Amino acid sequence: MAPKILILYTGGTIGMCPTPEGLAPATGYLEKQLLKLSPLPDYDFIEFTPLLDSSSMSPMQWNEILKNIFDHYESYTGFVVIHGTDTLAYTSAALHYGLNQLQKPVVVTGSMLPIGNDQSDAEDNLRLAMSTAANWQYAGVSVAFSGQLFPGNNVSKTDSSALDAFSSPAQEAVLKVSPDTSLPLAINRYKDTDMAVFYFFPGADLSVLRSMLKSEIRVLILKTYGAGNVPESEELREILVSADSELIIVNSSQCLNPNVDTSIYASGSLLTSEQVVSGGNLCHEALTALLLMLTSQSSDNLWVREQFKSRT
Ligand code: ASP
Repeated sequence: MAPKILILYTGGTIGMCPTPEGLAPATGYLEKQLLKLSPLPDYDFIEFTPLLDSSSMSPMQWNEILKNIFDHYESYTGFVVIHGTDTLAYTSAALHYGLNQLQKPVVVTGSMLPIGNDQSDAEDNLRLAMSTAANWQYAGVSVAFSGQLFPGNNVSKTDSSALDAFSSPAQEAVLKVSPDTSLPLAINRYKDTDMAVFYFFPGADLSVLRSMLKSEIRVLILKTYGAGNVPESEELREILVSADSELIIVNSSQCLNPNVDTSIYASGSLLTSEQVVSGGNLCHEALTALLLMLTSQSSDNLWVREQFKSRT
């Protein structure tokens, strides 16, 4: 049977047109532009309402994408998700952790310039995404951008203006094909979770961290230095010791290639308690999506902590 793709169009620069306030998504525009590009693999097209600048994406839209893939899974060879580039890497990670037993390609793409622009990267990115989605050998979630395919849970937007805006800093950009299984596709739904991020910088005011812990958060992500190091400060020790024992504290390095290992330096030893879990080598987007997926599955923080440890 000839391949057939389902395109899920969520918004982003790719289908934007100029307005007095700046670029904004235009209903129906991208679908018309696609008709001018031939030949393309056979496809159906679903436009989300409203089309969003991806800065406004939330777990609600992730669930809508997941539901569409689940509902139409049997009818298509693969799926292309068209998305704004700003939060594209969060969505690709959310799809990676939200689709269980995925045996078909799900390819996320977008572009840095609108499709109507002469210099636009839209056509190249769409063609790469569609040819990947039409090939069952690429089963799994990937991101197609600037001639490259990145693993869905290991990609970041690392340039805000160049056409090759994405990279896979945490490890070599190798696509992992989903393991073969006869189990049917299942999806995890996302919920909003109270999560806070504290970013260390020289001279950071720890009273800000203290006040974060007073609010009802389930997860605290500490963006630490290097291999997961923090200032050797009594105040920090005291703040961490007095944190609610149920709180999930995640040690996530500020380095693009994180490799957290707190056994190297004394300055990492503050974060070696049972309560602190290592973000390992996960990039920030994947780490966030994995935590959101796990906290959406269970209200038991101890379970979430154990699951997170087993997956990093
Ligand atoms: N602000 C846009 C978005 O993320 C940027 C883009 O698509 O390139 O929707």
